[in-house]
Amino acid sequence: MSSSTTSCVVCENKTINSTFKCEGCLLTFCLKHTNEHQQYLSHQLNEIIHEHENIFYTFNEHKQSSLLFDQINEWENDSIKKIQQTAHNVRIQIEQFSELQKEQSKEKFNQISKQLENARQNHEYLEQDLFRWKILLKQFKYDLTILSPSIILHQDHNKTLINNISIMKMDQQSTLNETFISFSDEIKFDDNHHIAMHCGPYRNPAYITGTQEYLSGQHQIRLFI
Ligand SMILES: [Zn+2]
Ligand SMILES: [Zn+2]
Repeated sequence: MSSSTTSCVVCENKTINSTFKCEGCLLTFCLKHTNEHQQYLSHQLNEIIHEHENIFYTFNEHKQSSLLFDQINEWENDSIKKIQQTAHNVRIQIEQFSELQKEQSKEKFNQISKQLENARQNHEYLEQDLFRWKILLKQFKYDLTILSPSIILHQDHNKTLINNISIMKMDQQSTLNETFISFSDEIKFDDNHHIAMHCGPYRNPAYITGTQEYLSGQHQIRLFI
């Protein structure tokens, strides 16, 4: 910091030769407020060191990009729900069909019951009748345990229930060509101007723009709040 004769930006104290200009923010402070300003900067440095330590521990914990993993988990859960719902719907349809089929079979079964009762009482039957009843009863047994061949499971290969997912690397070249610029003092950039950050003391509106022009395609800007 260098000494000058202008007033302190905080208390407006105009004592000659007792103000100091900060070479970083170019503001002028009295001795008291120079100390406060240095403490403020030192506090900010400590916060950055603390954040740096946090990130260092994150490296060691092998924590993955949680946003992407959250998205995969969501896709996984939604897909399982869709499959379970579809399976549930088809089971209900089969149960309804099975009930209907049982009702229809019961009528035919009652007819055979009458024929058998008649045969037992009146002894009016031939070998052909015995064969026919044997076959019909086998058919009923089959229909009651295994559903009739009138219903089969159909898989539609043209319709996909679940959309496939995969990872896609962003076009590095277009990222490198793009740089951010801003006319707002609050906006600070990384060395490559790929990251812009609002560093103002207040929540002043500030604007950034890219230097490239886009007519088509998909382009992403990541925003952290
Ligand atoms: Zn300063
Ligand atoms: Zn002051």
